[in-house]
Amino acid sequence: MSEFDLIRNHFSRIGSQRADVALGVGDDCALLRVPQGYELAASIDTLVAGVHFLPDCDPEGLGHKSLAVGLSDLAAVGAEPAWATLALTLPDADAAWLDAFSLGFDRLARSYGIALVGGDMTRGPLTITVQIQGLVPAATAILRRGARPGDLVCVSGTLGDAGLALRLLDAGEAVPEFLRGRLERPTPRVELGLALRGTATAMIDLSDGLAADLGHILAASGVGAEIRLPDLPLSRAVRDRLAADPDWGLPLAAGDDYELCFCVPEQKRARITALAERLGIRIQAVGRVQPEIGLRCLLGDGSIWDPGQSGYDHFPDAD
Ligand code: ADP
Ligand code: MG
Repeated sequence: MSEFDLIRNHFSRIGSQRADVALGVGDDCALLRVPQGYELAASIDTLVAGVHFLPDCDPEGLGHKSLAVGLSDLAAVGAEPAWATLALTLPDADAAWLDAFSLGFDRLARSYGIALVGGDMTRGPLTITVQIQGLVPAATAILRRGARPGDLVCVSGTLGDAGLALRLLDAGEAVPEFLRGRLERPTPRVELGLALRGTATAMIDLSDGLAADLGHILAASGVGAEIRLPDLPLSRAVRDRLAADPDWGLPLAAGDDYELCFCVPEQKRARITALAERLGIRIQAVGRVQPEIGLRCLLGDGSIWDPGQSGYDHFPDAD
């Protein structure tokens, strides 16, 4: 089967049909209409076999996750998902693998109204790059740099589930279904991100862990924060694990959470509670922004926990 047959068979009708796609898959470029008064939000992520996922992992889940990580970036600025392009590097053209991968990608794309408008196919070690584009009314995107002293620091969902799933996999132990789902099929918090426009002062999605990612908000905003570890939102599984082995690195730095961390002024607390109820998403205030630089993590007895090395660094020796 030729490269062109592969594209036609697996990637020519993926995701939603959108009226703002003037030209989709099949030409040298896609042509996309950005409505007047909007900004284009664009983000790109690469997943490499053996680094970001196990080479023998479920391809349908991989199709889901490779789009979900981009959707999570759109969520983090409050942009509405619109279009995606997909660059696939494959060791071989395995039709069953491609069917499953494209199904996982297609399902998630349709559920967020995304059209796949182009891509690239090359042969080599399994690598997946997804570029995603969204739309946001001009000057309303939620950036990392707006946090102010006194703001509440809030987190959606629960932390450390994907990290625990990975630790169990690495140890050759059974992985409960809930944890496996959190690792392989994260739910991007797109509706929450959109709803926080005009309310959150700063936001980021949690891919490297709360300590590192909140650190990016604090650095960009020129502030610090204090968070209370007993207030971190945890699933039963992570809570039980911490009771046996109190390693706060699991919820703070294991990463792959794909939840949102955002800051809001104290007087918007009631609005956040109402939003959580309306969307059926858990939202927890975990601490507060402070004028002093740095992130302090307080244990239940008021002592400070040292995060040590926080977040995953692909180039730990680079300077
Ligand atoms: P070019 O050589 O001009 O880059 P290609 O031969 O790589 O074009 O691709 C042909 C068409 O198929 C283009 O419209 C491209 O965007 C699309 N395409 C290629 N690979 C994919 C893919 N994995 N998913 C979606 N569209 C793809
Ligand atoms: Mg090409």
